[in-house]
Amino acid sequence: MKKKTKWVLAIIFVLCWAAGMFVAANSPEISGQVEAAQVTDTEFIALTSKLIMCYEYKLCGHTIKEEQEMPADYVGLDKQELREQLGAVSITSFSAKEVVLTKRLDGYCPEHLVVYLEGEQLCVYRALLGSGENEQIEVFDIPQQELWAAEIYALQQGKVFGSIAEVRSYIKQIQIRGKQ
Ligand SMILES: [Zn+2]
Repeated sequence: MKKKTKWVLAIIFVLCWAAGMFVAANSPEISGQVEAAQVTDTEFIALTSKLIMCYEYKLCGHTIKEEQEMPADYVGLDKQELREQLGAVSITSFSAKEVVLTKRLDGYCPEHLVVYLEGEQLCVYRALLGSGENEQIEVFDIPQQELWAAEIYALQQGKVFGSIAEVRSYIKQIQIRGKQ
């Protein structure tokens, strides 16, 4: 074999080896795993994506779910980008079809009424869903001299009732006590 032919064969061999390595590196069998991991993470929020907010209340343990309109600011974001926008709210599940977010709140959920003694009055409050704030829904006058020390203490901390009827019947008991 001529010297020149040997060189040509050697170059062809090297080129074939390089081409083989390139094909192997890009073959689906080898890079497939990486691609699969990426697919689940490349879903984006669309205008039609459903948004479910879950509010978890610490003191009563209730969770209240509410379907909301997807904020325009969230449209087009992937999971990681959404996480960066949310702050204290966590992502419970994420897909292009539906996003479930959970917000944990101190206090009682709006299904309860919390009553506080403020001077000579009992003020009834209910939580505003999802905000961590309360609205005053009713105020009753109360003969404070008829309250026991333990009741005063409980009412200063906030006494929990299931309904306004329960609050009224509690006040009636105290008023009756004064007339006995
Ligand atoms: Zn509750």
